Amino acid sequence: MTKKTDNKHAVKHHLHPFSDNAQLKKHGVRMMVKAKGIYVYDSEGNEIIDGMAGLWCVNIGYGQKKLAKIAEKQMEVLPFYNTFFKTTHPAVIRLSEKLVEITPRNFNHVFYTNSGSESVDTMIRMVRHYWSSVGHPNKKIIIGRWNGYHGSTLGGASLGGMKSMHEQGDLPIANIVHIDQPWYYGLADDNESEEEFGIRAANWLEEKILALGADKIAAFVGEPIQGAGGVIIPPTTYWPRIEEICKKYNILLVADEVICGYGRTGNWFGFETLGFTPDIFTTAKGLSSGYLPIGAVLVNDKVTEGLLAGGEFNHGFTYSGHPVAAAVAYENLNILDKKNIIEKVRTKTGPYLRKRWQETFSKFKYVADIRSEGLMCGFTLVKNRETRELFDDFGSTGLICRDIFFKNNLIFRACGDHMVAAPPLIISKKEIDNMLAIASACMREFEEMMDKKLKT
Ligand code: PMP
Repeated sequence: MTKKTDNKHAVKHHLHPFSDNAQLKKHGVRMMVKAKGIYVYDSEGNEIIDGMAGLWCVNIGYGQKKLAKIAEKQMEVLPFYNTFFKTTHPAVIRLSEKLVEITPRNFNHVFYTNSGSESVDTMIRMVRHYWSSVGHPNKKIIIGRWNGYHGSTLGGASLGGMKSMHEQGDLPIANIVHIDQPWYYGLADDNESEEEFGIRAANWLEEKILALGADKIAAFVGEPIQGAGGVIIPPTTYWPRIEEICKKYNILLVADEVICGYGRTGNWFGFETLGFTPDIFTTAKGLSSGYLPIGAVLVNDKVTEGLLAGGEFNHGFTYSGHPVAAAVAYENLNILDKKNIIEKVRTKTGPYLRKRWQETFSKFKYVADIRSEGLMCGFTLVKNRETRELFDDFGSTGLICRDIFFKNNLIFRACGDHMVAAPPLIISKKEIDNMLAIASACMREFEEMMDKKLKT
């Protein structure tokens, strides 16, 4: 159990992201001081299992000394140079070659950013520039999904479908619209099979295209599996039908691989697991396993050709292709590759976690829709499993549950009332067992608390 800690001084000057800072000032925060493998350690000496790989990003696990060494060496040799004005450097060339090697054959170009949000904003500008370059300047509208998450910048937050984010700061920006998410448990009709629902949910895209006019639509963007929306895994019929619709109406298909990319679902990219091929995909997080900030937008040959015809693309970041981040990312991809870490997720730890995840959580009465793909999993907290009734004030029960986990030194996340986990990809079967033993005890505590709460 966590010892009482007073880290209020830690929030004296720091405004934390996605936080109620007034609450943090009142109650303090937990200070993380070191990490190794799947564990992080706080200032009180607690060993905490990081069931979320940081923010879905430390794919390779903590404490990989090789990455630290590479960073040190690169800092000594060339700590910074830009790639704007007819210049480049070896680190970014090596990384680009590696990315092209691990992506499908028709992906041969990369644009670098520093984060997922920047990758998404880059993609928005790139898609519109592409259509204008190939003679369709009116194709500007980008379609996202409710409850999708695409970052916190103006473009990313607009394209995402988080209403609480739209409410702050007049979002979405112009020419961004949304369709509903392919959440079978929550949105299927009575007696509708998963396969039928997948097609119906994909057809919402066609309906939106027809309502707005295909000549105005630039792209459809989705996470192969919605992450921050609560690990929403679409039926197998969904993405192939989406791909068909995009082709039919000449609309670019974009996958946001910021979470799914670099092994999370048991393949290099989520679209491989979910059975489709996008025109563009955005990445970040697992590209460097979070060791340094770097993102990349991968572009297929068709879109590249259009962009090349369009002259200068007036877009870029000081740190696009930063040498130290690029060197670390390259080594991270190499380790994932050489140590067969992704293959293990696909053939060993992924299937094992799926089985144990089901066994562990199906015992609890406030739990429904237990799901997983690779090392990305979730379940939904419900008031009544039979009637599928959700708890009132969606999200507040999730936070209660998450805080019980956190107090017991296990980091899971609550996305609304969906509880989710995404541990580092290097997690072993034994560590999965340990993680789920703690999770089971936490769920017992949660169940007792909810029993009492619902009686009163
Ligand atoms: N897209 C997706 C799918 C994400 O999950 C995230 C972050 N969780 C982002 C974009 C934004 O990435 P970042 O926080 O690095 O800006």
